[in-house]
Amino acid sequence: MKKIILCVVAFLLTVSSYGELKYVFYMIGDGMGSNQVLAAEMYQAELQGRIGRVPLTMTSFPVFGMATTYSASNGITDSSAAGTALACGHKTNNGCLGVDKDSVPVISIAEEWHKAGWPVGIMTSVAIDHATPGAFYAHVDNRSKYYEIGTQLAATGYEFFGGAGFHQPVNKKDSSAINLYDLCEQNGYTFARGYEDAQTKLNAEKLILVQQDDGVDKTQGSESLPYAIDRLTDYMTLPQIVETAISYLAPKGKFFMMIEGGKIDYAGHSDDAATNIQETLDFDQAVQLAYQFYLAHPDETLIVVTADHETGGMALGHGGKYVLNLQSLQYQNCSSWELNTHIQNLYKQYGKRLKWQQVQMLLRDDLGLFDKVELSAKQEAKLKAAYKNLVRGKGKTEKTLYNDISELGGLALEIFDKKGRVAWTSTGHTAANVPVFAIGVGAEKFTGWYDNTEIVKKIKAGR
Ligand SMILES: [Zn+2]
Repeated sequence: MKKIILCVVAFLLTVSSYGELKYVFYMIGDGMGSNQVLAAEMYQAELQGRIGRVPLTMTSFPVFGMATTYSASNGITDSSAAGTALACGHKTNNGCLGVDKDSVPVISIAEEWHKAGWPVGIMTSVAIDHATPGAFYAHVDNRSKYYEIGTQLAATGYEFFGGAGFHQPVNKKDSSAINLYDLCEQNGYTFARGYEDAQTKLNAEKLILVQQDDGVDKTQGSESLPYAIDRLTDYMTLPQIVETAISYLAPKGKFFMMIEGGKIDYAGHSDDAATNIQETLDFDQAVQLAYQFYLAHPDETLIVVTADHETGGMALGHGGKYVLNLQSLQYQNCSSWELNTHIQNLYKQYGKRLKWQQVQMLLRDDLGLFDKVELSAKQEAKLKAAYKNLVRGKGKTEKTLYNDISELGGLALEIFDKKGRVAWTSTGHTAANVPVFAIGVGAEKFTGWYDNTEIVKKIKAGR
């Protein structure tokens, strides 16, 4: 009986994959391990007052697999080696982008298919020259050669790029070198600044959508869209970029898109659970847009959603207790980035005169501490000690990859996350397997347990 059911399932999957592949959505949640996905689902269920999960769009897909992520040089990959594996199907050393471990360029699926006449869109919630998007068009032996990566972007001829902007638009080593924005325009690209502007430029031959430049710094210390948890209504979002890309590329009759949710990783580096969950939910909104497109073109579309690695070693549960309290994360009102900025600003304003009550008020506003989230006497004492260090000018600041975390800010968030029963093992990446979700033409190939270099090969096999 079991055999018959399996045969029927296999047959149905084969039938469902019938059709000519015309539209590919390759979606990468940077730093989105299985626990990040589960946390977002269980958090939403707890908000409804129950234990369980509210399924995300990505986990509703019929096919699921798991991929290993180690690089050629390290048991734990960085985003450039993982990006190269996902884009090109080759293992490489950490730090390398679009080249193998001997620095020989390897070709990405986007380059290969673009040459074969496929319109290509590359988009992210961080900078368009960052490691994950860069893996789909650049070839450098060091991911921090941002200017060089940008010049390679300008030369791709890809139809669409979307993201916050360039990480490094000027050549720091040569002041006479052309600005990357000018270089792209020279190469026939039109820039749209913000979502509204993009809607008027959908007829452009080649389009690059970046954040609106209204003089307000929305980059939170690096060229990226602000975290979803900090977002104001006029800020451009990743789903808006994806919506624009679909409007722009769909009339061309076929496309390959890479869509990165880049700031799940940033929140993971900051060990910031509430921000992490909101970023995963935001990324899933982008998946939802791809899914709506799939529903209109089910026989011609493939959506693959995965991650490049897990970030932070996010643990759901700690301290030996068999409980979660994710709902308490709802009282966090801003990201770790903003929390630490607020602490810094308060200290700058008041210095030694800064009062404990002022700090309490800040922690109440940003994290709901001393109010919605109750603290033990021991926890309060710890925070007070960190406050005293701060006013003495001794509060150590830890520099993580995308955030400077003060002793007070780091401690407050650690206590807050543990109230939600979330703990972290690292401020870096981990070797944890990542999930792979798939639906559409050729989706059945993505079931199983395999290496991250296999994912792109499975996508290519569908063409
Ligand atoms: Zn990272």
